[in-house]
Amino acid sequence: MIPVTSRIFMFEPSEYSRRPVIGYFEGERRSLLFDAGNSHRHAGDIRVELVKHRKPEPDFIVISHHHWDHWFGLKAYKAVSLCSEKTLEEIRRQTALDWSSDAVWDRAEKGLIPRETARMMENEFGMKRKDIDFKLPDMTFRKKITIDLGGLKCRVESFGGSHARDSVVLFEETEKVLFLGDVLYTDGYKQPQFDKTAEKLLGYGALLYIESHANKIYSNKQFLRRLESIRRRITS
Ligand SMILES: [Zn+2]
Repeated sequence: MIPVTSRIFMFEPSEYSRRPVIGYFEGERRSLLFDAGNSHRHAGDIRVELVKHRKPEPDFIVISHHHWDHWFGLKAYKAVSLCSEKTLEEIRRQTALDWSSDAVWDRAEKGLIPRETARMMENEFGMKRKDIDFKLPDMTFRKKITIDLGGLKCRVESFGGSHARDSVVLFEETEKVLFLGDVLYTDGYKQPQFDKTAEKLLGYGALLYIESHANKIYSNKQFLRRLESIRRRITS
């Protein structure tokens, strides 16, 4: 658990089993997690860190999008959980699937999911998938919702994009920190679409930027460089 500001923290990601960054916001009255983590074990590790740092359990959890690594840990928390209506729709679909190791590899063989996903799940869950046990989020919102934690105000907004159409981003208005989730991860960018995405992200006027699968806190200058490096990779 590392500080982003004095009241905002991040749990570091691990690419061994695709554990994303988890954001933690410690308001005066309430606290909030951005993303639930990829398993009950991941959630357990987060709880251990919170206890170690004498931080309260989260009151709220906001899910960034429906990909397994961002929400499979949800059932391990007591907090009130929120996601967009689109995310709930996708999550419902996922709860109906077979997540046994054989079934996941089978979907990978058929090209329905990347082989990398099957391998990452193997790393997190092993062959025994007892830990995959779902709870649906408690509340949904359509376009945006603002949660006032006391001294910190988390504005969560639908962002969409080609990584996952249900993606949301979280902007904390007081300290001006933007949690992007996975919105910048895609191979399929076209120039005009990317320019629009970049403009939308910069439009928040954030001072710090955090992506879900990078162990990094970007300053404005560094984030501009990051956008520039993606822009250079776009060929058409
Ligand atoms: Zn994702």
